[in-house]
Amino acid sequence: MGCQGSLVQIQSPRPALSPSRPTLNVKQPGSVLLVTNDDGISARGLQSLAEALAELGEVYVVAPDREQNAVGHALTLHRPLRVDRTGERRFAVNGTPSDCVNLGIQGLLPCMPSLVVSGINHGSNLGDDVTYSGTVSAAMEGTLLGVPSLAVSLADPDTGGFDEAARIARLIAARVLVEGLPPKTLLNVNVPSGPVKGIRLTRLGHRVYKEKVVEEMDPRGRTYYWIGAGPPVWEDGDATDIAAIRQRYATVTPLHLDLTHYEALRRMGAWEGALTAQLRSRRSRNAPRRRSG
Ligand code: MN
Repeated sequence: MGCQGSLVQIQSPRPALSPSRPTLNVKQPGSVLLVTNDDGISARGLQSLAEALAELGEVYVVAPDREQNAVGHALTLHRPLRVDRTGERRFAVNGTPSDCVNLGIQGLLPCMPSLVVSGINHGSNLGDDVTYSGTVSAAMEGTLLGVPSLAVSLADPDTGGFDEAARIARLIAARVLVEGLPPKTLLNVNVPSGPVKGIRLTRLGHRVYKEKVVEEMDPRGRTYYWIGAGPPVWEDGDATDIAAIRQRYATVTPLHLDLTHYEALRRMGAWEGALTAQLRSRRSRNAPRRRSG
């Protein structure tokens, strides 16, 4: 049951959706959705997200058994993973968010999911910070495994707003289910706290590294260091996710997982020959000389 979708079907073209047409009520019978997060399986944000997405298909929750913030795209390769079945279609894993997605898609789920949704993270994942984020990395893992994926984060979870963020997540998820995403592309969604003015498509903003490493002495007289202290400072820039969130818009930033910089690749074309020539000349210089006679 609930396994109509196969990999082939997921990659097949979907009917385009006109911008004016409402995107709700696109529940596809047989659609399986994988939901995960990095705040742990008992987090409020995960609960709201799973409930909201149940309107779109059969939701499987595969999430870390504890908080896994800022673990990035780490995979657990050197110890066994344990899975605790905590309810119907609900699994707690003693691993990272990426472990959960990998395990879910390649093992626990009855079939390929139509969508991976990670979140709702307690706190924003904006700009350059996406590279550290366990929430965003889980969506990256889904993308790498060929499933359309999105990450959803709520800027200020202490003031509430999970229901609104879940509604926005469902709206975007529904559109992705119908329209699909370009290859190797995931969506990073952030929702401000308080009334949301609208939804903006944005690019990633940039962090300014001003803070210094904090150096202190421990009770045994040894020096220790503390990184990432103090609030982040962001570069001003139009059309960034940072700017839009400040103006109380929810943001959708498409991210591409082909990290190759094609312009740099072209500009550095001459390096290839030069480096190869240097390598060869060094080799011939170091090679043992043959004595004649
Ligand atoms: Mn988190």
